[in-house]
Amino acid sequence: MPRFIFIAGGVMSGVGKGIATASIGRILKSKKFRITAIKIDPYINIDAGTMNPVEHGEVFVMDDGTECDQDIGNYERFLDETLTSDNYITTGRVYQAVISRERDLGYQGRCVEVVPDIPNEVISRIKRVAKNTKADFVLVEIGGTVGEYQNMLFLEAARMMKLQNPQNTLFLLVSYFPVPKTVGEMKTKPTQTAVRILNGAGIQPDIILGRSVQPLDSPRKRKVSIFCNIKSEDVFSSPDVDSIYQVPINYENEGLGNRILKKFGLRPVKQGLKDWKELVRIIFNSNKEIKIGIIGKYFKTGKFTLMDSYISVIEAIKHACWHFKIKPNIQWFSSEKYEKFPEKLKELKKFDGVIIPGGFGTRGTEGKIKVIEFCRNEKIPYLGLCLGMQLAVIEFARNVCGIKKASSTEFLSKCKFPVVDTMIDQKKLLKEEKYGGTMRLGAYKCELKKGTKSFNAYGRKKYIFERHRHRYEINNTFRRKLEEKGMIMAGINPKRDLVEIVEIKEHPYFIATQFHPEYKSKPLNPHPLFREFIKTCL
Ligand code: GLN
Repeated sequence: MPRFIFIAGGVMSGVGKGIATASIGRILKSKKFRITAIKIDPYINIDAGTMNPVEHGEVFVMDDGTECDQDIGNYERFLDETLTSDNYITTGRVYQAVISRERDLGYQGRCVEVVPDIPNEVISRIKRVAKNTKADFVLVEIGGTVGEYQNMLFLEAARMMKLQNPQNTLFLLVSYFPVPKTVGEMKTKPTQTAVRILNGAGIQPDIILGRSVQPLDSPRKRKVSIFCNIKSEDVFSSPDVDSIYQVPINYENEGLGNRILKKFGLRPVKQGLKDWKELVRIIFNSNKEIKIGIIGKYFKTGKFTLMDSYISVIEAIKHACWHFKIKPNIQWFSSEKYEKFPEKLKELKKFDGVIIPGGFGTRGTEGKIKVIEFCRNEKIPYLGLCLGMQLAVIEFARNVCGIKKASSTEFLSKCKFPVVDTMIDQKKLLKEEKYGGTMRLGAYKCELKKGTKSFNAYGRKKYIFERHRHRYEINNTFRRKLEEKGMIMAGINPKRDLVEIVEIKEHPYFIATQFHPEYKSKPLNPHPLFREFIKTCL
């Protein structure tokens, strides 16, 4: 019988609901329960595929090709589970399903209304995940904050589920407790307000998780208990941490897991976070440092620098470093700098390795090509991801094969030497301006070439499956020429004969992939290509 845990945010966003959800999942999984997690995003977009990474953060891709919110990435990393499209709900998806059912006479002629038909569709989606995964616990994170228009119908769905099945449904509020500098005291009012708003929606939280710079003390817990109509022992602390991987351990130290089990009438189960604790020990006790440069362009918004656009890449680097008990020192640079000031390329010599991650559009690409040329010549370990591979091929075509005008039709539509180009099916989609969900997405088979570095990294497997998100490919017309000059096509998609991995000889590590290995890296199980990259950097 599945149990449902709804996780909603207080009046402030960006306080780490996704990590809270993922951490609760990890704890319950470590207690030997079967877990799945759903992310609800209240926007109209069908998926995150068309969103700007600077505004929305990374677009994560699942095996089945769904382009989704980066929280799904956190769930997969913490839970070590492969999720599917069903685990991602948006307002757009819900309305689209209801409207198309109405068009198909699925409501048998009756008037279809926002309430209850929209919450009912949400409920049926949540229950479908429970049924398909046979999970003991389904965690449902409701995006946004309480009180906003956008997520009201999702809260309504949650309320209706609790009404139907009170013993199997739990509400958890993740709320921020500010400590204003001028006052120096932790304030509970935003949480009181959040609970009032939730009460207005017919929901009483069963557990409150207090996000703050420091743990909640007993006077605060008592206050929350009185004003928010909740027992003190149901108020938990979630103080700021230096590493997100500490969070499950902190929750367990406060006994959150067993409290949740008790709420469902289940017996307590001993803590099972041994491997996780060992990981955190390594995170904080590794002294030897390694310097990795990421060259991208989705970093800046106004006066702020973001890392969220490349979160899976950053996590994958960390996972691989921790595997060798070393500390990653990751620095990011905007590639445009190297276009204006090529003499700055020299600074890359101070790095143990360089990564060029995915990207779209022309801006910054010439700078990245310069970086790749520098890494190739100076034998700096290089890992190219998607765009990072396409540019590596362009660089090689220009500077090694002598095709000076080599480029991609993404940057130059009438390019004479399109070493990177679209397939015919993509040309048609682009012409019709059909952008959403039409790239080459999700897991595809790749055959590895024996004897290559990639083949060895993957443990000499013949076939691997990796996740894609791109519209352009290496143009097979140029393949022979590239190979003649020493580029190795180390991975090929057998069905469509597409290049998936390139390597070059006589270089400590120069591997670039058309797919995104970073999506599949896990904290306790780093991705082989990242692991070997870091090993070489070391
Ligand atoms: N812009 C390139 C393409 O569409 C690369 C995409 C990526 O790096 N994810 O093929």
